[in-house]
Amino acid sequence: MSVRIALLGCTGSIGGAALAVLRRLGPEYELYGVSAHSSVEGLLDCCREFRPRRVVLCDPESADRFARHRGNGCRLDAGEGSLADLAADPNVDLIVNALVGAVGLVPTLAALEAGKRVALANKEPLVMGGPLVRRALQRGGGELIPVDSEHSALFQLLEGRPQSDVRRLVITASGGPFRGRSREELAEVTPAQALAHPTWSMGPKISVDSATLANKGLEVIEAHVLFAVPYASLSVVIHPQSVVHGLVELLDGSFLAHLGTPTMELPLQYALTYPQRRPVPDSALCLRELGSLTFEPADEIAFPALALARRAGEAGGTSPAVYSAANEVANLAFRQGRISFNEIPDAIEHALETVVGEPVEGLEDVLRADARARAAAEEWVEGATLARES
Ligand code: MG
Repeated sequence: MSVRIALLGCTGSIGGAALAVLRRLGPEYELYGVSAHSSVEGLLDCCREFRPRRVVLCDPESADRFARHRGNGCRLDAGEGSLADLAADPNVDLIVNALVGAVGLVPTLAALEAGKRVALANKEPLVMGGPLVRRALQRGGGELIPVDSEHSALFQLLEGRPQSDVRRLVITASGGPFRGRSREELAEVTPAQALAHPTWSMGPKISVDSATLANKGLEVIEAHVLFAVPYASLSVVIHPQSVVHGLVELLDGSFLAHLGTPTMELPLQYALTYPQRRPVPDSALCLRELGSLTFEPADEIAFPALALARRAGEAGGTSPAVYSAANEVANLAFRQGRISFNEIPDAIEHALETVVGEPVEGLEDVLRADARARAAAEEWVEGATLARES
């Protein structure tokens, strides 16, 4: 019997890489269900090739448009609420969550509660709802396999190793397109420059997050939730070549490192075939061609989003959700040309100072903090825009 997959976010950058992996893995894996936000054309292409039995379109208008074009035999549901229903579908064995942003939290919880394996590329569920995700894992008996490259690396390095042997986890960051620039030099950078990532090809939200190092901030929180290590035992190092994805420092001072070509297909495929491995064509690393690998500290003055994430993570409760939501708003406002690059962390800081963190007892606490943080960040963005215009 084949493994039946639901791919949430099939038209994005990670979704495309997941489809490439499924194409290669062949009939042993069946794409049972897919979702997209509003990209009808991308979804139709995917449906023509993979013939999924269930389709979810989050945007209702796009769902109407899709309904006019689709062929027979696939069930269509509209609206974000249907994502959780697809994620918990009894016919699905494995969920690939390739969504972007907060929208991925509820379907992740639904899948874990239903005891499914979740290949998680979407950072925000772990960041916003860490305690809820852990609870859902315990209750439902599901499994979480990280797809974010750094966490996939750590997951592989930690496999079968007693936690007492581990002293520290290190995640690497490419440093993004603005590595080496001072805060003053960053004042005028444009969204187009921020989107040109040197080593990874990614969607627009995460490309800007990489440029601000908010992405690495989210990843520190993500690692804390996934591997249950204190923040003091988590560090970030800038590694511009993006070949070493993660390192584990052991009790005796030994370091284990995970190396791989920077392509999302590697962690995605491993999450699908875990604990087995399959070949990935063109992914071999040529050490002689690489020549040298370099490491340097992160500049937390020029890129304050990283330290803010640590602060939010250490505060715990709903503070990571506030960080994540405020970052989503500020990231988009920058891409829309409403605020400058350096104002992204300023907006996040404003939200963290305005929205008081609370304990996370249930989903409502996270959603309330998310809404308040969005409002606070939006208010800050509007203030900054007005100040510029006057
Ligand atoms: Mg990553």
